[in-house]
Amino acid sequence: MKVRYSYLPQQFAEIDDLLAEIKRFVATGDFTLGKPVVEFERRFAELIGTKHAIGVNSGTDAIKLPLKALGVGHGDEVITTANTFIATVGAIAELGARPVFVDCDDSFCMDVGQVEAAITPRTKAIVPVHFTGYMTDMRALMPIAEKHGLPVVEDACQGILANIEGRNSGTWGRAGAFSLHPLKNLNVWGDAGVVVTDDDAMAHSLRLLRNHGMRNRDEIEVLGCNSRLDSLQAVVGNWLIGTAREISDKRIENAEYYDRHLGEIPQIRIPPRLPDMRLVYHLYIVFAEDRDGLLKYALDRGIEAKVHYPIPLYRQDALKHLGYEAGSFPVTDRHTTEIITFPTDQHISREEQDYVIETVRSYYAGR
Ligand SMILES: *Cc1c(COP(=O)(O)O)cnc(C)c1O
Repeated sequence: MKVRYSYLPQQFAEIDDLLAEIKRFVATGDFTLGKPVVEFERRFAELIGTKHAIGVNSGTDAIKLPLKALGVGHGDEVITTANTFIATVGAIAELGARPVFVDCDDSFCMDVGQVEAAITPRTKAIVPVHFTGYMTDMRALMPIAEKHGLPVVEDACQGILANIEGRNSGTWGRAGAFSLHPLKNLNVWGDAGVVVTDDDAMAHSLRLLRNHGMRNRDEIEVLGCNSRLDSLQAVVGNWLIGTAREISDKRIENAEYYDRHLGEIPQIRIPPRLPDMRLVYHLYIVFAEDRDGLLKYALDRGIEAKVHYPIPLYRQDALKHLGYEAGSFPVTDRHTTEIITFPTDQHISREEQDYVIETVRSYYAGR
């Protein structure tokens, strides 16, 4: 049996209505910040529960532009987490600022207890990452940020519709960043991102920054860039956004099935499932004894298991200049040897999941 990682062919198998929609859209020629973008922004803000949503061209820019709007630039430090996708750090570095890492805990998010020790006079902002679909402990982080007068921009690219006590990811800080990349929970056919905020001034700045800082066709208010949400992708987004809640419900249901059965295997440890938190399983990760052996065994049997990620950012060549020494982030380091990601999404079947569970069981039974 093969258990595929990518479910995109299934997700976009029946799209006649969408193609008809695209045909209608193309006839309008409304390609630049067109009506579909306006509609998508309205629906996205409604989905997350914020006053504003601003479409941009990627999740990376959805992190970068709010930081730019907050004045983050050369010489500044921005605190984020040691285990994230490179895009978080790339967004900070692109502004000329220095990413400062804080280790994670077993929820794969920033260990908020270590944030204060990382604050210096140069710290300009904090970017918690709601990694894998967990949420950073925002109840603990926000008072720390407020005490030090530091704005928070949430990287919610993997955490759409995750919440703590019902309050959604992306709505805790000054702004929240989402990605609509094909591999994210709410996805389109290319690169796209969204920033949400309740702050009118922030929303105003973002609308300028994403479109060359143009107030209108003839007047340039600030220096910005080209980071518009593509209208064609907005058509795809509008087609899909009505099912966003269903997608996350289904992912949660499938993850709970894995938890129940993989959790019975003594060599597998399920990460903490926190009672007040709705986690949306962008990635389904467990801790496994003899991870490398299990990974190879699963791959050999057609299961596209993965490791997110085998090499932490602070040990990557591109970030050597930050000067972190090996062992600086022990939990992040430990995870690289213990974690395994199994395919889990809204389209995986029970048969596929049972096959994964049986394969894991047979690996440990046969060792
Ligand atoms: C995907 C992702 C991003 C960036 O999103 P893009 O749309 O690919 O630019 C940022 N942060 C995290 C944690 C991500 O997973």
